[in-house]
Amino acid sequence: MRVLIYDAKRYDRETLQAANASSGSPHELIFVESQLNVQTASLADGFRAASIFVNDDASALTLERLARGGVRLLTLRSTGFNNVDLDVAARCGITVMRVANYSPYAVAEFAVALLQTVNRKVHRAYNRTREGNFLLDGLQGHDIHGKTVGVIGTGRIGAIFARIMAGFGVTLLGHDIVSDPACVQLGMRYVSLDELLAQSDIISLHTPLLPSTYHMINAATLARMKPGVILINTSRGALIDTEALIEALKSGHIGAVGLDVYEEEDGLFFRDRSDQIITDDVFARLMTFPNVLVTGHQAFFTHEALSQIAETTIRNLTDFEAGHTNENLLQPR
Ligand code: NAD
Repeated sequence: MRVLIYDAKRYDRETLQAANASSGSPHELIFVESQLNVQTASLADGFRAASIFVNDDASALTLERLARGGVRLLTLRSTGFNNVDLDVAARCGITVMRVANYSPYAVAEFAVALLQTVNRKVHRAYNRTREGNFLLDGLQGHDIHGKTVGVIGTGRIGAIFARIMAGFGVTLLGHDIVSDPACVQLGMRYVSLDELLAQSDIISLHTPLLPSTYHMINAATLARMKPGVILINTSRGALIDTEALIEALKSGHIGAVGLDVYEEEDGLFFRDRSDQIITDDVFARLMTFPNVLVTGHQAFFTHEALSQIAETTIRNLTDFEAGHTNENLLQPR
């Protein structure tokens, strides 16, 4: 099957080509750097399948254009699918598949890395020692041991984050629409969002971006958090109202923030913008806080996760071509 791979970076080409070559029936993969949007959808004319990543735009007009060009499968190289209009895809006859399961350890471990970096101020220490400044003033952190950690969304990634945090010797609180017995066995207590916000010293977000979770961290919910709270987001940027977060940071209410995602990251992340002016004033303000660390959506970026994403993407193509379905099929809710 001929497949157009949108938003392809060097590492996507390498891992997808390797997975394709070792599959029984290789596909013809054509790579383009362009992101999918309504303007670039015509690049897929004549292709039966297209593959996209987290910031490609598969909203209604784009999907309709893809369908007119003959695309019948859209396969996502991600777990999150908030960038795809599943109702329109179904109406246009486009099957949508994702990578439901790839190393949740990659993201959970990165959330812990962000947490300890902002807590122990490793990001500041790194710059200081390179400048020959070995003063400790301003680098004081907190023991994690004995603290209360709130996990919002205890699915695959949140549950592993909780398991790692249990090793630090913390009290675990969870908030989810379903509880995970494995988390309960770890000692997690499921509570309301209000209680989690009020009790936690550390909060980590692991829910998908849905209408029900959009801006779940906003002025009201930030105000309910403990003064000095550490907030970590490795899920999706729009879980947080960034302008409200900036106000809470300016007031000194928030202790530290680690963000791997940003609500307006599309057009900014996954590119070298180092010689360009940043015109997003909200993002620019966020970057001024010494207690905020932003990374460019790299939590998934491990050798293991990339290989699994590539292998699953190739399997999705093969299953679709053979008329089979699998656990990665996405259907309208
Ligand atoms: P998952 O589906 O296994 O878990 C999500 C959990 O959120 C589920 O337990 C679900 O019940 C819960 N949830 C849904 N709506 C909720 C609500 N309104 N309130 C509370 N809980 C709610 O997903 P996962 O594999 O753990 O991934 C979580 C998210 O992480 C993905 O949706 C994606 O956005 C993000 N992600 C980020 C990266 C990265 O590189 N930064 C990589 C992979 C995934």
